[in-house]
Amino acid sequence: MSHLVISTNQKGLRDDSNIAGIELCGLTKHYDTTVATHDVNLHVDPGEFVTFLGPSGSGKTTTLMMIAGFVIPSAGDIRIANKSIVTLPPHKRNIGMVFQNYALFPHLDVARNVAFPLEMRHVPKSEIAKRVEGALKLVKLQNYANRRPRELSGGQQQRVALARALVFHPPILLLDEPLGALDAQLREEMKYELKQLHLKIGITILFVTHDQQEALTLSDRVAVFNHGTIVQIGAPTDLYRYPANRFVASFIGKSNLLEGKVVRRDPQSICIRLGETLEMRASYREGFREPNNSAVYLLRTESVRIGNAAVGVENQYEGTVTAVFYAGSATEYVIRIGEEWLISARIPATETDMRLAVGDQVRVGWKPSDALLVEADGADSSAVGTSEAHSGQQI
Ligand code: ADP
Repeated sequence: MSHLVISTNQKGLRDDSNIAGIELCGLTKHYDTTVATHDVNLHVDPGEFVTFLGPSGSGKTTTLMMIAGFVIPSAGDIRIANKSIVTLPPHKRNIGMVFQNYALFPHLDVARNVAFPLEMRHVPKSEIAKRVEGALKLVKLQNYANRRPRELSGGQQQRVALARALVFHPPILLLDEPLGALDAQLREEMKYELKQLHLKIGITILFVTHDQQEALTLSDRVAVFNHGTIVQIGAPTDLYRYPANRFVASFIGKSNLLEGKVVRRDPQSICIRLGETLEMRASYREGFREPNNSAVYLLRTESVRIGNAAVGVENQYEGTVTAVFYAGSATEYVIRIGEEWLISARIPATETDMRLAVGDQVRVGWKPSDALLVEADGADSSAVGTSEAHSGQQI
């Protein structure tokens, strides 16, 4: 794939003194009886790239719209560079925003579209021409200044929207599912461009998506939304390795999530029982679970080993293959163990020559340190199975 590299010539577009942090304090929005967001609290450092990730209806866009000023909060405060902006109209907030549908003016050419925010701010004409040129260079569209939006591809329109959002040097850029309308390859290219852009102009970015891959690859931190509030925030690696609850575990990564009861624990590991007899060990987390409590056992599909690779690990079972999903670089096997429990295993093509078919018997295993107990709280059955999560389950 050929990536379109953002121009290094962005004279005037990087202004570190202009980059600001943002603080959301108890941000709440009610529509009659609907709670769109509830008590959203977030501190974003200057220059950070923070993504709002969550299922549809979890309050991501409402939060972004409150920051932009298009939705009035029912309660709470928004502070940029330590000043409250919550009573300011959108155009006085000086925030750049890109909408999912681009929202370009169809009757204006690219240059006039990009010039629009500067004209609104009564910037002198000569300055406007310079800034528009710089912004179009930044997004590699300097040769398209005279085209109308309808004469551009979806990706190019998206870049015009980006140039328009950046041309007035906002301290903060808001992006609402900006890649949602693009096809898969263009989305990859734009992801790369956004990352480059963030590196080069260093602006604070808040990015909304329901796509976990976008969130994990682009962000410094990800705020996971559910039912109108942030249920966990952290660096992508921390969220992936230590999801706070079942909901986050199911929304990020591909997982087996098995419900059982704690039977015993020791300093290194904790043991849970599924159904009547099947026991599994997980690494022990401080303060987690007394015996007899319910727990959710989280096992990422890539941590499961099969065949000889499963010999010698502490969690080891004989199972039967019930489904095979070939995906080129890896194969996903669904294996039934114990009474009726299903475990998904993602085996990279480089790791084994084994060719298993439905009905084959196979040894399956994983290290306790590759498994984790997570809180059942925050579980949302509507989200399980709608994301990349594959829920290990009893049949
Ligand atoms: P997301 O961006 O995560 O998909 P939204 O912020 O758009 O979620 O919506 C959060 C909740 O608020 C949803 O239940 C949605 O139906 C509701 N909502 C959003 N905007 C309005 C509105 N203008 N009027 C009534 N309910 C709304």
